[in-house]
Amino acid sequence: MRVLVIGGGLGGLAVALRLRAAGCDVTLCDNGAGFGGKMNRWEAAGYRFDTGPTLLTMPDLLRRLFNDLGERLEEHLELIPLDPHAEYVYPDGFRLTVPARWEAWREAVRRLFPEDATGVETLHRLGERIFRLSELTFFRSHPLVPPRLPPLGALRHLPLRHAWGNYARTVERFIRSDYLRRIFLRYPTYVGSSPYLCPATLLVIPYLEHAFGAWYVKGGMYRIVESLVALAEARGVELLPGVEVVRIELEGRRARGARFRDGGRLEADVVIFNGDSAALPGLLGLPTRPPAAGRSLSGVVLLAGLRQRPAGLEHHTVVFSADYRAEFGALFGERRFPDDPTVYVNAPRDASLAPPGGQALFIMANAPADGVASWNETAVGEARRRIFARLRTAGLPDLERAAEVCQIWHPGRFAERYLAPGGAIYGDNSHGWRRAFLRPPNRSPRFAGLYCAGGSFHPGGGVPMVLLSAQMTAALVMADARRS
Ligand SMILES: Cc1cc2nc3c(=O)[nH]c(=O)nc-3n(C[C@H](O)[C@H](O)[C@H](O)COP(=O)(O)OP(=O)(O)OC[C@H]3O[C@@H](n4cnc5c(N)ncnc54)[C@H](O)[C@@H]3O)c2cc1C
Repeated sequence: MRVLVIGGGLGGLAVALRLRAAGCDVTLCDNGAGFGGKMNRWEAAGYRFDTGPTLLTMPDLLRRLFNDLGERLEEHLELIPLDPHAEYVYPDGFRLTVPARWEAWREAVRRLFPEDATGVETLHRLGERIFRLSELTFFRSHPLVPPRLPPLGALRHLPLRHAWGNYARTVERFIRSDYLRRIFLRYPTYVGSSPYLCPATLLVIPYLEHAFGAWYVKGGMYRIVESLVALAEARGVELLPGVEVVRIELEGRRARGARFRDGGRLEADVVIFNGDSAALPGLLGLPTRPPAAGRSLSGVVLLAGLRQRPAGLEHHTVVFSADYRAEFGALFGERRFPDDPTVYVNAPRDASLAPPGGQALFIMANAPADGVASWNETAVGEARRRIFARLRTAGLPDLERAAEVCQIWHPGRFAERYLAPGGAIYGDNSHGWRRAFLRPPNRSPRFAGLYCAGGSFHPGGGVPMVLLSAQMTAALVMADARRS
């Protein structure tokens, strides 16, 4: 069976490797000069930066991919558990460190915020039940793809009181401290969504972080891509970098291959799309909708190389804005970059990423997915100024002055490089339970032979969900092949 995978992001690489291991002839193309998609790298003046993910959760899903390929993850990658998970810096100067172990975190809450000890425990248990239910249902297949009936064991997790309500309201109902609320309200941004607009089921995210840890890959997250590309080469996946698909070719209601921007064509029995779901109709010659309110967040990312390691920075530091609600009002209501953004700083302690004594920093603030037109030089400069201003106001060292190299990614750049409408990082947002749970499926309901894997499809964005997406898609392709 000839398979063409369009897009060499994490999901594209994983599905290509899985189908190659199942005996398919696989070609993988990407419009970029290399592979990895959003999980990528930038190097300059002896510094190496991850340009995408900096946090790995649910590492067993990555381990499962290697196992299923007959490989041991440890022979390819070194995963390092992080403890603490993060330090949070508040507008009033208060700092809160969140330890890795759930028991240690629960203890810290008991000591610092005794009135919220029960609430934090309740939200953790709710997250756990959502996870147990998802494991048996959502993490196995799309809700509308048969088998639709969950296994009997899932039913005991169903009476999830509070899980179907609004995320922020649920957090505010159980937690009184504004410091703790802020921490919980940050998690939905991991899937590019607003805590004020998404369902409380996303409380599974803080649960996952405490249950399975926060991890770093030695040498940077891009090492994952390097190891998967090396495996793909060794196993005979045909890799075509710099090749953009402009049309998925159809024969009646069946996908038959693709046409490239340079005029080339490739025929295939199965076509798998790993790009953004909003770009798929255009590739099929169907009407597209303009990028708008339904998109997930984009971001402004500053990659800064510092000659000296700044004091007092954990691996992950989050510096909160003065007014979180106003920030999300700007992002999703007015659809503009916030005046005062919350800023995430990633400072990996990894000597391989900087010249001796130096530090590679990844600094990020959320931005609306408003695409190329809104991001001219003035807008980019203004966003950079606001990000560094928030860090200075919070009392962090002057990172801007200390930087000897600095590169900026913004929604326009994300849109152009990843062909992701608006520059959204996670496809559509998860506002409302329908959008959160009925994401575009892994098999086209319209065209035979057309499948999809990646962060904008089921089950969602972020490294662990993308790995699951690739696993489900490969299983569907092989099950359909056996049936035909
Ligand atoms: C700044 C940033 C920070 C992030 N932080 C985290 C984090 O800490 N933890 C985490 O888990 N996740 C994080 N993510 C999200 C994570 O990176 C993504 O969810 C995941 O990598 C997406 O993988 P994917 O398989 O969907 O493919 P993508 O990475 O979206 O790659 C798809 C590829 O397909 C290519 N393509 C699209 N259309 C075509 C076409 N027509 N022809 C050829 N090629 C095409 C694109 O150019 C792209 O290279 C972050 C992302 C970004 C950008």
